[in-house]
Amino acid sequence: MHCPFCTAEDTKVIDSRLVSDGAQVRRRRECLSCHERFTTYEAAELVMPRVIKQNGSREPFNEDKLRAGFLRALEKRPVSVEAIEAEISHIKQNLRATGEREINSRVLGELVMDSLKALDKVAYVRFASVYKSFEDIAEFQAAIEGLQAEPEGSSEPDA
Ligand SMILES: [Zn+2]
Repeated sequence: MHCPFCTAEDTKVIDSRLVSDGAQVRRRRECLSCHERFTTYEAAELVMPRVIKQNGSREPFNEDKLRAGFLRALEKRPVSVEAIEAEISHIKQNLRATGEREINSRVLGELVMDSLKALDKVAYVRFASVYKSFEDIAEFQAAIEGLQAEPEGSSEPDA
């Protein structure tokens, strides 16, 4: 990178070490032209895409909101906090992996439904009935039948 003092292009790294428990690399550099020294920090970019809502407005990805949605759907269901957190991490990984700066709220909703389906079928139906806002009872029935059509034991065995 350019020297911040003289803007020369050639700088050399004279020291490099991990900081923040390994989450960052701190590099001490020296300019080959003016010999000034400066420090740079390098960290992985963990920016979540923004969420495009149905009305077209954008909002920052909100992990608390996502967690609240899970907890609401899983209220009084036999699912551990660890299992929920694992699904939340999984969803965040998926969103980052898209490499998109913005994602449709629909995509997020589908990811949540996939997670709930794997965690707890009752919670899945609860969430889906609200999320999909079923227009008529037939549509809701079809969703339930879709669930029943899945062979038992297709989900992860209880650990
Ligand atoms: Zn310089």
